[in-house]
Amino acid sequence: MDNQQITVTSPLLPGLDELNEYLRDIWSRKWITNNGHWHQELEKELCGYLKVPYLSLFTNGTLPLITALQALRITGEVITTPFSFVATTHSLWWNGIKPVFVDIDPSNCGINPDCIEAAITPRTTAIMPVHCYGKPCDTKRIQDIADKYGLKVIYDAAHAFGVEVDGEGILNAGDMSTLSFHATKVYNTIEGGALIVHDAKTKQRIDYLKNFGFAGETTVVAPGINGKMDEVRSAVGLINLKHVDEAIEARHKVAVAYREGLKDIHGISYFEDMSGVRHNYSYFPIFVDAEQYGMTRDELYDKLKSRNIYGRRYFYPLISEFSTYRGLESATKENLPVAHRIAEQVICLPMHHQLSEEDVNRILETIVEK
Ligand SMILES: *Cc1c(COP(=O)(O)O)cnc(C)c1O
Repeated sequence: MDNQQITVTSPLLPGLDELNEYLRDIWSRKWITNNGHWHQELEKELCGYLKVPYLSLFTNGTLPLITALQALRITGEVITTPFSFVATTHSLWWNGIKPVFVDIDPSNCGINPDCIEAAITPRTTAIMPVHCYGKPCDTKRIQDIADKYGLKVIYDAAHAFGVEVDGEGILNAGDMSTLSFHATKVYNTIEGGALIVHDAKTKQRIDYLKNFGFAGETTVVAPGINGKMDEVRSAVGLINLKHVDEAIEARHKVAVAYREGLKDIHGISYFEDMSGVRHNYSYFPIFVDAEQYGMTRDELYDKLKSRNIYGRRYFYPLISEFSTYRGLESATKENLPVAHRIAEQVICLPMHHQLSEEDVNRILETIVEK
């Protein structure tokens, strides 16, 4: 059928036979949550895959953000990006922390290190950058600024599963990093997430915090939360981990085809791979320059939709435009010119491991014809 729906993403799903085997095992153990056997296995396997020393699983990707801020006792103001999914800034709000937005760098859509120092006040305690689309932030420069001013750095790495820079896992940067294993991400446990830390003591503390603060049967060391992942989703994670490299390779092929098809289109730009980086191709954003392309982003977005092709305007509106945040001094358009421009230009094209060549061609034809 010519006009079949093309969605922006398709989940990496475990094979039912494989899943069944795990389910039988879980049912026979009768240990279905609270740091069970498969939960421990998945933590171990993920540490290996992601090249990180310690990782704590969570039930989604928002709770590790909230918990990281708790664990590091972050207060006052945190410098962050408006160009992300709302959960980044919501995690600050849930901790009673004031977000301070700074502009982004158009080369990776991450926080612009040049803008950070001017936003620091005596109340600033941390920086929360996002590896947007899985593009690595300039972690060295961000760390230099953090060290100079005595700030913590917590990376929202929800998009950056498996991303490496010069052979090193990106998740080792900063004080802590968080992942989301939501169904729409490159790698999923249906719902899920993780907090990556650098030492055993901190991992222990995170494990207390995600279990109500319990450090033993009768000891509660902090006002913790319930963030525990169960055995069934841990099993889904173990199965999907075996297939994630293939999925990333399939996404890579889609990215190559998109770039080839768009390279001569005036007014459409996109990211090239960065040298030394293992990308995960979690998203394929294109940026529409309306004047050169002859059509606005929204016109192209609607045209794609009319052909049953569903892109996403990630990230539009900016977080700083939502009612909770738009009253902040740092939320003004003047403070965030690049973020505003990109939010008006971006469409993330459909990107997943099952996108066929025909689908890709249909998407390209829709963009190329005018
Ligand atoms: C998906 C996502 C989250 C939230 O993850 P959930 O697992 O949906 O709670 C946080 N930050 C970013 C940048 C995301 O894309």
